[in-house]
Amino acid sequence: MREHPRVVIVGGGFAGLRAARGLRRASVRVTLIDRQNHHLFQPLLYQVATAAVSPANIAQPIRKVFRRQHNVDVVMGEVRGIDAEARAVRVGERAYTYDWLVLASGARDSYFGHDDWRAFAPPLKTIDDALEIRRRFLGAFERAETGRDDASRRAALTFVIVGGGPTGVELAGAMAELSDHTIRRDFRAVDTSTARIVLVEGRGRLLSQFDPKLSEIALHDLHDLGVEVMLDSMVTSIDASGVSIERAEGATRIETANVVWAAGVRASPLGAMLGAPTDASGRVEVDADLSVPGRPEVFVVGDLARVLDGATGGDVPGMAPGAMQMGSHVGEIIAGEARALAAGRPAPARTAFVYRDKGMMATIGRNRAVAQLAGRRVGGMLAWLLWAGVHIFYLIGFRSKVLTMIEWAWSYVFYERGARLITGVDAERDDRDA
Ligand SMILES: Cc1cc2nc3c(=O)[nH]c(=O)nc-3n(C[C@H](O)[C@H](O)[C@H](O)COP(=O)(O)OP(=O)(O)OC[C@H]3O[C@@H](n4cnc5c(N)ncnc54)[C@H](O)[C@@H]3O)c2cc1C
Repeated sequence: MREHPRVVIVGGGFAGLRAARGLRRASVRVTLIDRQNHHLFQPLLYQVATAAVSPANIAQPIRKVFRRQHNVDVVMGEVRGIDAEARAVRVGERAYTYDWLVLASGARDSYFGHDDWRAFAPPLKTIDDALEIRRRFLGAFERAETGRDDASRRAALTFVIVGGGPTGVELAGAMAELSDHTIRRDFRAVDTSTARIVLVEGRGRLLSQFDPKLSEIALHDLHDLGVEVMLDSMVTSIDASGVSIERAEGATRIETANVVWAAGVRASPLGAMLGAPTDASGRVEVDADLSVPGRPEVFVVGDLARVLDGATGGDVPGMAPGAMQMGSHVGEIIAGEARALAAGRPAPARTAFVYRDKGMMATIGRNRAVAQLAGRRVGGMLAWLLWAGVHIFYLIGFRSKVLTMIEWAWSYVFYERGARLITGVDAERDDRDA
């Protein structure tokens, strides 16, 4: 009996998961490789970083996701090489051969050539990053509580977030609410509401992908929450004691040890290994069917692909809906070709990928959000409810949906945040003592 043809999918994010699911009825053997053992719902990472939800609520073991899809083998490992001629990807000593390859390894943070800033300004991309930010953020209030004088307390309670896109805005709003309400009555020596939260953005407005009116609403809401927003401001250096910023009115410096980097991403380096053309941020320029030019058996999807949106002429935004749609599209193509192969028929003509714009949303705080849906702009409570509904809907796993809803309802009623744990302190102490 002929073996089933093999599909290798690299990345168990939004795109990779959809591609694998699209192959559930296909006569293929799928190997899904990810360096993490879990699928991560990145849109809610900021809630882990600000102690609103527990990490397990937004991450699902990939093995569990495919427990009932018997044609999928899950491999936990980091792909370090792709041999497109031999049709194989390399994980450690092993090579996994494929008839079709789906590359869905996403994007990673980028410090625009200043990788030395990373030690002082962690990014927000993985669960570990979120826990590190949570540790630094909550730890700062503990340091302020035992600070010797007002100056040391003020320095401990200054937070700078670099990048005014959705992640920066969401983090700044959540941090302001936490220090103003949630933890205020838990401290004795320090008034946590005096925390200074600064959001630094290089462009002239926040949420630059959104309609300008929504950027204004976000700015207004953040001001209301006490966040200091610096627009047209470029960070020029970050070190252990603070951040230097270049502004039209001159250079300024903020003394702080609490900086978060939410300013940029770069495509996974695996794209460059295909030898296909890439854009300035490392995304692979794919054909209309999402395959790599000259390699019809290799598809690139999600944040790693540069895809044109026929409707606007711009790029499909690097967001979850586009990644899911690309994954489904490629799953369908491969399933169709596998069917034709099994029946001894020629492969059907491939269809071009068409992006369906599902809109954009960002939340700023309790009852405050902005949403741009089907040409409509929505702000305030309605946008916030929409945001919550959409995120619960797309969270993977019934348990995660229920637990997250309970945690949100609890925080809404009691202004509480259930995941206020400072973890990783022992590791930090061991490093210091070594
Ligand atoms: C903090 C944050 C907030 C966001 N908020 C929103 C939002 O509100 N709405 C929205 O639509 N989008 C949001 N996004 C963007 C959205 O998460 C991405 O567009 C989406 O995750 C892209 O999906 P993907 O499958 O291409 O990549 P990912 O979901 O990033 O998945 C890539 C996978 O590949 C794996 N991988 C990478 N390299 C390797 C390797 N060498 N070997 C093996 N495995 C590898 C990774 O572990 C990961 O699991 C947010 C992103 C971040 C970081």
